[in-house]
Amino acid sequence: MLSLNTSVSEIKGIGSQYQEKLSRFGIQKVKDLLFHFPRRYCDFSRIVPIAQARSGEIITVKGAIRDIANKRTHKKGIVLTEAIVTDESGSMKVIWFNQPFLSTTLKKGTSVILAGKFEWQYGKLALHNPVYEKVSADLKHAGRIVPVYPETEGLSSRWLRARIKPLLHLVGEVKDFLPAGVRERQRLPALSQALQEIHFPSSPSALEGAKDRLGFDELFLLQLSRLRSKVQWQKEKAPSIKYDQELGRTFVGSLKFELTQAQKKTAWEILQDLEKEVPMNRLLEGDVGSGKTVVAAFAMLMAVHRGYQAALMCPTEVLAKQHYQRIAEILGPFSVEVASLTSSTKELEKTRVVERCESGEVQIIIGTHALIQENVSFRNLGLAVIDEQHRFGVKQRQALREKNRSDTMPHFLSMSATPIPRTLALTLYGDLDISVIDEMPPGRQKVITRLVPPGKRKKAYQFVREEILKGRQAFVICPIIEETDKLGVNSATQEYEKLSRDIFPDLRIGLLHGRLKSSKKDSVMTEFNQGGLDLLVSTSVVEVGVDVPNATIMFIEGAERFGLAQLHQFRGRVGRGAHQSYCLLFTESRAEPSLKRLRALVETDDGFKLAQVDLELRGPGELYGTMQHGIPDFKVASLLDAKLIKRTREEAERLIAEYPELSGFPLLSSKLEEANANFHAE
Ligand code: ADP
Ligand code: MG
Repeated sequence: MLSLNTSVSEIKGIGSQYQEKLSRFGIQKVKDLLFHFPRRYCDFSRIVPIAQARSGEIITVKGAIRDIANKRTHKKGIVLTEAIVTDESGSMKVIWFNQPFLSTTLKKGTSVILAGKFEWQYGKLALHNPVYEKVSADLKHAGRIVPVYPETEGLSSRWLRARIKPLLHLVGEVKDFLPAGVRERQRLPALSQALQEIHFPSSPSALEGAKDRLGFDELFLLQLSRLRSKVQWQKEKAPSIKYDQELGRTFVGSLKFELTQAQKKTAWEILQDLEKEVPMNRLLEGDVGSGKTVVAAFAMLMAVHRGYQAALMCPTEVLAKQHYQRIAEILGPFSVEVASLTSSTKELEKTRVVERCESGEVQIIIGTHALIQENVSFRNLGLAVIDEQHRFGVKQRQALREKNRSDTMPHFLSMSATPIPRTLALTLYGDLDISVIDEMPPGRQKVITRLVPPGKRKKAYQFVREEILKGRQAFVICPIIEETDKLGVNSATQEYEKLSRDIFPDLRIGLLHGRLKSSKKDSVMTEFNQGGLDLLVSTSVVEVGVDVPNATIMFIEGAERFGLAQLHQFRGRVGRGAHQSYCLLFTESRAEPSLKRLRALVETDDGFKLAQVDLELRGPGELYGTMQHGIPDFKVASLLDAKLIKRTREEAERLIAEYPELSGFPLLSSKLEEANANFHAE
């Protein structure tokens, strides 16, 4: 007897080969098969009389095989199977390619349902390559709305239908975890019914109901998970860091520029959070160059002033180094002890920094993830800032807390230049408070962006040369070419060689990629920073944060291989100084969606708009995929479905307000735990 937890290997027709293929989809048990949903459907439910078939249409007919035979053709390797099928209204020719077994499967006299395109091909009007099924009371492939599963090598929809349909009597055993109240208010079908209908819909409206229910489940669980962690978070205790008005004024006055309204507003939101005894958990979003660093420095200064330590963590060494210099400079007038720590810090120095951090002598520490990996500890960490990441992962938070010798939780601030449309933010970051810097410092020039056709490459090189002769510098970014080259090292190295040898033999060119030793990375970056290199060939490691005001050209190879958010980040590396800057995009792609994305980049410099375009064209997974975490892989729900987001949000809020611990909902609690593994992929 099969049950939900039976291994798929026990199912008739599934041998070790298929078991292996299924496991690639994460399908191990019967239950997993029930939750392997179709990607789309073909509606083959409307049967037309043969006499009414019109050429050019996709039709479904039902009739008897009157004749069937295989034929060789002049073309090598192609076997035709030709049949005549008849119903009460008439008959038609049917042709299959390279399925010779059909002449024995569908013998003369068999009643069949066929679905396919009725058209002229090779001089014959016929139903070409139709889906076929013998008539029975248990139709799976035609004569109904038919599921089409996600494609994979050697695992056809036809095969899956035949395996899944006989399992559907088990759907009743899947426990429905959704509280009855929610189901009723939202008019959702029972889970068992939804599972049945998602695979083999009895009608279009039943299918809609099933999608609604299963999509609702996905988003509802995500919302619930975020709200739950917010509730849990708010039980923690953090030090109250009181704002000192005079220091605030002095700080603002000490800056070389005036803060924008948006910087003032967001700084104020953060500083107010710091005063509370509930730890802050805030995301500071602002486009590239909007000036997030100084806002973070303001908050760190206040923490230090009140006797606490602050930490700033960044994704790369290059960035950590730059932040160290900038923060030290900004806080120069306030005699704050700032130290830096990365994995390349020399042993002796490292030991010293670790000691001084432990004693509390170091007031602000800036570094890479080394900060949470090495044996660093804090006397009393009051504020942790993380740059270029949307949130602190659960593990990162845990690690920082363990390193803190005071018994409170630090306040957390994450900063990101990848804008998220609001509805999406509410869902994905429902546990965070969000501050947005929606204004650029005045006087920022627009970077001129061009999509350069292949024929104008020479001219582009000439232009680069002219700029460099004027004293400017340029970046050349290279993409990943092969799967094995995850970091784009190969292409960057090749490009570096080509440019040094053939194009710009007279210029000073540097190479930067993730596989270089970090001391080498540092020295290349420093050299470029100080003007010792004219041109820097790099992989996407320069993507985040790097600030070289004299660089005016961003030259991007294989631009279609990057997401818009990432391209926008690259572009943000130039246009930081007084000189007009340029972003030149190169692509070999002729694919319209790629070109559309690149044109969007040419047309707008608004990061939020670009995020929206990317979201629509590539979906949220691609948009934030490699850079950010915690984007759930939904099977049914769309993260862009504003209505569903609203409904699930309201229900989740309502439930949490009444049952913050979800007591009384054991099925829901355990389902949530299961789902959390997907939501917190940090
Ligand atoms: P991002 O938000 O991308 O991290 P940064 O904090 O690196 O941006 O700031 C980008 C540049 O803008 C820095 O050189 C910084 O000194 C400068 N800057 C920040 N705020 C202002 C301002 N209000 N007016 C003028 N320049 C500013
Ligand atoms: Mg930054």
